[in-house]
Amino acid sequence: MAQAVERLEISVNTPAGQVTTPVEVPVGFVPVTEIVPLLRRMGEQALALEQRRAEATGQRISCRMGCAACCRMLVPISAPEAFALRDKILALPDAQQRTRLDRVSAARARLDQAGLLSRLRDIAETDRQLSDEDMEQTNRDYYALRLPCPFLDNEICSIYEDRPAACRELLVTSPAELCQDIARNPVRPVSVPVRMSTVLAMLWADLTGGPVRLIPLPLALEWAERHHTERERTWKGSMLLEKALEKVGRFLNYCKM
Ligand code: SF4
Repeated sequence: MAQAVERLEISVNTPAGQVTTPVEVPVGFVPVTEIVPLLRRMGEQALALEQRRAEATGQRISCRMGCAACCRMLVPISAPEAFALRDKILALPDAQQRTRLDRVSAARARLDQAGLLSRLRDIAETDRQLSDEDMEQTNRDYYALRLPCPFLDNEICSIYEDRPAACRELLVTSPAELCQDIARNPVRPVSVPVRMSTVLAMLWADLTGGPVRLIPLPLALEWAERHHTERERTWKGSMLLEKALEKVGRFLNYCKM
């Protein structure tokens, strides 16, 4: 039986303008994955406002389907998204699921060969709060491999509707060819009003008492598998929404400072 829901409309002021969206809040208890689609949607709406601002100044977005140069960077994914991704992969028909899992294994083997796998596992599991500076060298070393994301098929994302928030946040206005070497070329990204992967990671930290954890995407499925009992925990829908919006507010305030 479908859960009873309360229908609301929420508005958030971002640097790009106000985002307003209808939301159905479950009256009962739900897992944290329930909040993921709403936050991703709000993030996309905020980014669309930012995109319009860029276009109003004569800039054009160069990102197009089939251009996946940025799918060679290390994508950080929050725990709620890792659980949602595992649910998605487990719901695929057997053959598709096998293909995905094989690609993930192949990516892990490549990372192991390059001496990066254990470093990424430490990042996924540490209880220490990592800073952007802590991640800098690992991000560089990962990008140097030019390892295609295991969810990339013929330069098209195979989980497009379910792709992580971080993947939705990278739009550029510089010529597409510059993205072939993001580390060296003067790539111009559209500024991101609110990073929902971080917001979701802050929410998970609050719910579980751990650090604001961002998991390297190629390890997201194994991380979610190892932590699957946490996936079963539930919280009141209204409480999850309240906490999530508070994290959005904290993120926006922090960025103003
Ligand atoms: S999940 Fe999709 S969009 Fe994100 S890096 Fe992988 S292939 Fe690219």
